[in-house]
Amino acid sequence: MKSFKSFLIFILCFITTLSLSGCKSNNSTSKGQPLTKTEVIIGTACTISLYDNKDPKILDEAFTRLKELEDILSINKLGTELDKVNEMAGKAPVEVSDDTFLVVSQGLKYSKLSDGALDITIGPLVKLWGIGTDAAKLPTEEEIAEKKSLINYKDLVLDENNKSIFLKKENMIIDLGAIAKGYAADEVASLLTKNNVKSAIIDLGGNIFAVGSKIDGSNWKIGVQDPEDARGSSIGYIEVTNKSIVTSGIYERFFESNGKKYHHILNPKTGYPYESEILGVSILTDKSIDGDSLSTTLFALGIDKGLEFINAQPGAEAIFVSKDHKLYLTEGLKNNFHLTSSKYEIIK
Ligand code: ADP
Ligand code: MG
Repeated sequence: MKSFKSFLIFILCFITTLSLSGCKSNNSTSKGQPLTKTEVIIGTACTISLYDNKDPKILDEAFTRLKELEDILSINKLGTELDKVNEMAGKAPVEVSDDTFLVVSQGLKYSKLSDGALDITIGPLVKLWGIGTDAAKLPTEEEIAEKKSLINYKDLVLDENNKSIFLKKENMIIDLGAIAKGYAADEVASLLTKNNVKSAIIDLGGNIFAVGSKIDGSNWKIGVQDPEDARGSSIGYIEVTNKSIVTSGIYERFFESNGKKYHHILNPKTGYPYESEILGVSILTDKSIDGDSLSTTLFALGIDKGLEFINAQPGAEAIFVSKDHKLYLTEGLKNNFHLTSSKYEIIK
């Protein structure tokens, strides 16, 4: 899985001496520079940058935790807990760790809340399309119809007492691609906080967690990348302290067939990628698992229904970037988003 999310959101280390490259991998521990490490885990480039308490052991501990989570939550690796749950679909419940139970519970919660627009039993369709892998292809109508019939979060049974998960039908597959990175970011953030880190940036393939504040106590300034200018200018920025910022977009992972682009967020009802007016949607929350769930959900719902949905979620804010260069902001962001691009217009 190749994610280009890090191109979509990047940390604007402006005003200070911190440049974008200062947020990338380096071993520098000089004053003002972060201690940074990058590794590919969960199929994406993960970078953690410590701006205080720059102890390499803390970084090692954080990456060990990320690998631990990959080993239980991935469906692209054999023998993970999730793999076992999927293998036992239609046969028997599988007891899982607290981590897996929590992430699947959260996925089920948003599947219900979104009335199946987000549905973590999307696995058979994700595998069929293979978007983001070398095996990506346009499936036949018959294949789509067959896989579509397996997708239904109502056939996912969680047993709180036994911490077990059961998929009622054979060949059903849970896919946590829409939320697992969010949980991983939360886990790393709490590990850093426990280790007394008060200033850090966690970037899991564009799932950003800005831990604490900048070293001088001021807010982090998080840039929202212009999706049409992936490595270039930003649309604007927001100021945050101790927040998660997650983006879902259509230009991260897609493939082309007969001149048509097919991206990786799939509509369980049609079996095809969602048709959407959204280029990207970024979510601000305290917990990254909520941000990750919401970014995919809001992309699926579209701008109008998405705004309605997020306005009912306490403590969550969103920025939608539409294909016709309009920005739609939730109330709480209207005074916090600083537009810097003349190409885009904020819709009041
Ligand atoms: P990214 O994986 O680039 O971080 P998202 O957080 O938006 O982007 O998650 C997209 C992933 O979620 C897909 O790659 C797939 O694994 C999964 N997915 C696709 N469509 C759905 C859906 N309707 N409901 C739940 N998960 C989905
Ligand atoms: Mg997501």
